[in-house]
Amino acid sequence: MDCLFCKIIEGAIPAQKVYDDDDVLAFLDINPVAPEHILVIPKKHIAKMSELQEEDAPLMGKVMHVAAKVAEERGMAESGYRMVINNGRDGLQTVFHIHVHVLGKRKMSWPPG
Ligand code: 5GP
Ligand code: ZN
Repeated sequence: MDCLFCKIIEGAIPAQKVYDDDDVLAFLDINPVAPEHILVIPKKHIAKMSELQEEDAPLMGKVMHVAAKVAEERGMAESGYRMVINNGRDGLQTVFHIHVHVLGKRKMSWPPG
């Protein structure tokens, strides 16, 4: 399968990993848009949120829990942070393997662009 994030999971493409278990991987974004910019992904290939199945709910729950734990470990819990999941064309998704952006260590703005 020609999926960039599956290749990172397999180790075929290097990444700066910050969390790794049987189900979930977290690594630094190659083009950070905040002082902290981490991507948290399920190891199962799911292209986008709109393709999620009910059976994937526990896995995505784990992804969100890992994202919160990684944010805490990297010192973002008290000051706050933002999690973003882009979905499809209008959501400006560019990599079609579900990922949670964890953004922190700067003040965000609202509404998002
Ligand atoms: P999307 O736009 O799909 O929500 O986000 C994709 C993210 O993946 C972008 O923030 C982009 O910088 C990041 N990205 C793209 N290619 C690579 C890569 O090869 N390595 C890493 N670590 N991040 C990548
Ligand atoms: Zn994939």
